[in-house]
Amino acid sequence: MDEFAGKNILVLGGSRGIGAAIVRRFAQGGARPAFTYAGSHEAAQALSGQTGAEAIRADSAARDALIEVVASRGALDILVINAGVLVMGDPLTLDPDDVDRMIDINVRAPYHAAVEAGRRMNDNGRIIVIGSVNGDRMPFAGGAAYALTKSAMQGMVRGLARDFGDRGITVNSIQPGPTDSEMNPADGPMAGVMHSFMAIKRHARAGEVAELAAFIAGPHGAMITGSLQTIDGGMGA
Ligand code: NDP
Repeated sequence: MDEFAGKNILVLGGSRGIGAAIVRRFAQGGARPAFTYAGSHEAAQALSGQTGAEAIRADSAARDALIEVVASRGALDILVINAGVLVMGDPLTLDPDDVDRMIDINVRAPYHAAVEAGRRMNDNGRIIVIGSVNGDRMPFAGGAAYALTKSAMQGMVRGLARDFGDRGITVNSIQPGPTDSEMNPADGPMAGVMHSFMAIKRHARAGEVAELAAFIAGPHGAMITGSLQTIDGGMGA
């Protein structure tokens, strides 16, 4: 498998979970991707050692520094925007600073990173954001702010798909449902409730989401753009 050999790839938020699985998948496909991370230095170094990927410390909440990192990669072929945080709880008591930081990381950063990538991206490039089924459906109390961020991504991919389409660049959102990671462990306290909303009652594996990313990023994805690719075991059905 060498479908990504020689491709210039950047994954934002690649040190753990879904992002790390995507880094691994591109590396298996023959690429030497770069990825960013904020806090998990040891995990980032370990992944880098295992895959040959380049680890770059860059907090997505720092807008101008993030834009600089994206610009420094030159003409990208593939940008995956995975970095995201989850702030859940009673909206009447959530700390507004926590909510705003989530909006910085989950909404502002993806927009500015995608635009900066699009400025210099190679023709037929790929921009993929990791949204969530919660952009379509929020079946619990306490998720309004998180859902807001994931719904915002939907408008962004539709709009940027039209802005960049004349160069063959595709812009899509992958919308996972419950996926086993440190953010949402398959054996966590909410797992049973989440599974009750699903047709296939288990967490996805991060590698399953990575395979979808590889398909969209690969040669067969050329006509998929402006789309929301939901991979949620039927949670939103
Ligand atoms: P994890 O918390 O397991 O991993 C998050 C990753 O994002 C880490 O690599 C983390 O790096 C990075 N990250 C977080 N904040 C920042 C930041 N400020 N700057 C740079 N990198 C950052 O989460 P998941 O793998 O579960 O989630 C990945 C994405 O998938 C998120 O966007 C999430 O919203 C989405 N998602 C997840 C679902 C799930 O059930 N797991 C379901 C639907 C969507 P570091 O630790 O180094 O800071």
